[in-house]
Amino acid sequence: MIVGGGTAGWITAAVLARFLRGRPASIELVESEDIGIVGVGEATVPVIRALNGLLGIDERDFLANTQGTFKLGVEFRDWARPGNVHFHFFGDFGDVIEGIAPHHHFLKLRQLGDATPLGAYSFPYVAGKLGRFAHPATDRRSPAAAYGYAYHFDAGLYARYLRALAERNGVRRTEGKIADVRLRAQDGFIESVMLADGRRIDGDLFVDASGFRGLLIAQALGVGYEDWSQWLPCDRAVTVACEGTADPAPYTMSSARSAGWQWRIPLQHRIGNGHVYCSAHVPDEEAQAQLLQSVEGRVLGEPRLLRFTTGVRNEVWSRNCVAVGLSSGFLEPLESTGIQLIQNAAARLIDLFPDRGFDPVLAAEYNRLTRNEYERLRDFLILHYCVTERDDSPFWRHCRTMRVPEPLRHKIDVWTGTARVPLYSEESYQEPSWVSIFLGQHLYPKRYDPFVDNLDEPRLRQGMLQRRTAIRRLAESMPSHRDFIARQISSRPAAASPAA
Ligand SMILES: Cc1cc2nc3c(=O)[nH]c(=O)nc-3n(C[C@H](O)[C@H](O)[C@H](O)COP(=O)(O)OP(=O)(O)OC[C@H]3O[C@@H](n4cnc5c(N)ncnc54)[C@H](O)[C@@H]3O)c2cc1C
Repeated sequence: MIVGGGTAGWITAAVLARFLRGRPASIELVESEDIGIVGVGEATVPVIRALNGLLGIDERDFLANTQGTFKLGVEFRDWARPGNVHFHFFGDFGDVIEGIAPHHHFLKLRQLGDATPLGAYSFPYVAGKLGRFAHPATDRRSPAAAYGYAYHFDAGLYARYLRALAERNGVRRTEGKIADVRLRAQDGFIESVMLADGRRIDGDLFVDASGFRGLLIAQALGVGYEDWSQWLPCDRAVTVACEGTADPAPYTMSSARSAGWQWRIPLQHRIGNGHVYCSAHVPDEEAQAQLLQSVEGRVLGEPRLLRFTTGVRNEVWSRNCVAVGLSSGFLEPLESTGIQLIQNAAARLIDLFPDRGFDPVLAAEYNRLTRNEYERLRDFLILHYCVTERDDSPFWRHCRTMRVPEPLRHKIDVWTGTARVPLYSEESYQEPSWVSIFLGQHLYPKRYDPFVDNLDEPRLRQGMLQRRTAIRRLAESMPSHRDFIARQISSRPAAASPAA
C-alpha cells in the first residue's frame, strides 16, 4: 500500500500498477485532502520522458492537461558574479573528435583569443534563447539531433493527471487521515495503518510517500535523517504565481539573490516563481518582498512559505517500508531533480521488487543505489554555490569558502588540473553538464587536452565556425515555442487522455 497522494504517491502508484498488471497483487493508496500536497514540483529533467513512455502517456495530451511547456534547460543569472549569465541546457557542445571532447577545442580557441561564448556551441541554448522549440532531428549527424528536453507543468494538474491514470489501471484510492501505524510484535515490520475514523488497512509492502513528515519511515520506524545543510544551507522557499506571457520561454530561469536564488517557470497559463533562501541570512518578510518585487506579471494568489532541511534519510528502505519523494530526502530544486528522484525510486523498486520474505540484501542494494544517486546530485548542486566569485554577502562568502565533500573536491581538482571530469556510479549528470557549470562560473582549467595541439589550427577554427553557423541556421528555422505547443495540442488524439 502507498501512503500519500502527492507526486511521489501517484507516480509510484502508476508505475507499480503498470508493473504488477496481471499479477496477483493489489495497490491501495491512502491520502488526506485535509492535509493536501506540497504541490510545487513544476520543472523537470529529460528522464521524465522515459516515465511518460513507460506509462503510455501521449505528449500532446499531457501538455493539454497539465498546461505544460517544453524545457530545454536552465539559464542562471548572477550566480558567478552579479551580471553574469550562464546556462545548463540539455545538450553537448559538439562531437568528440579523435577521442577529444569538444570543450577542449573550445578552450584552445579561447586561449588563442577567440571570445565566442560557450553558448554558441550548444544547440538547445541557441534555440531556447530564440524562443524556438521542435523535437530533436532524426538525422543523427545534425546538431539539431543531440539534445534532450523536459517539461514545465502545473504540479496540481500533474498529480490529478497521474491519479486518473493510476486509477484507470486498477489502483484503489482511499480518502482518510492516518492516525496510527501498527507494527508486528515479532520483527517491527509495518502491519497496518489506522485511519482517524477507525478503518484499518493492512498491507505487505508499504510505500511512504507522505511528504516531509515521513509518517512511516521516520515517525513509525524511527529512521533518522542526514542533514546536508552545511553545504546547501537554504532551508526555506516562498512561492507565488503570476500571469503568464504570450510567448513562454522554453527554459527555466534561476537568478541568484543575496542569500539564495529565485526560479521562474513559464507555463501556458501562468508563471511559477519561487525564492529559495537561507533563513539564517534573510528574514522571511524580506525574502517575500524580494520575490514580489521581481516577479514580472500580475501576482495570482497569496505567497506560500515552505520549510525544508536538505539531506537524505539514513535508510530509504527499512523493513517492509520504502520511502519515496520528500519522505526520503530533499535537494533544493536548483536543477529540478525532485521528480527524477521519485521516478528513479519507483524504477529501482521494480528492479528489486521483494517477495513476502523481504530479503535484507534487497533493501541494502536499494539503499546503496539511492544514496549514491542523492550524493552525486548533492555534489552537482554544491558546485553551483562553491565556484562562485561572489563575495557580496555573508551567505556567498560562506559558499565560496566552505569545505566541500571529498568526491566533489576530487572532481574540481581533476577539472582544474586537466579539463577532465571524473564520473562516479549513479551519476545523473554527464560531462557536458559539469562543463556548463565549471566554465559558466569561470572556473577555467590550467590546461586542455594536449592532443588538441595535434589538430591543424585553421581546420579547428573552421570546424568550430561551421558548427556555430549550422546551429544558428537550424535554430532559426524552428517554430516558435508557442506555435509548437499550440500545434501539438490541436493535433492530440481525442481518446488519449487518462484524465478523460
Ligand atoms: C520549494 C520546492 C520546490 C520544488 N520544485 C521542484 C521542481 O521544480 N521540480 C521537481 O522535480 N521537484 C520539485 N520539488 C520537489 C517536489 O515538489 C516533490 O518531490 C514532489 O512534490 C513530491 O512530494 P511528495 O509526494 O513526496 O509529498 P507531498 O506532496 O507533501 O504529498 C504528501 C501526501 O501524503 C499525504 N499524507 C500525509 N500525511 C498523511 C496522513 N496522516 N494521512 C493520510 N495522508 C497523509 C498527503 O495528503 C499528501 O497526499 C520542489 C520542492 C519544494 C519544497
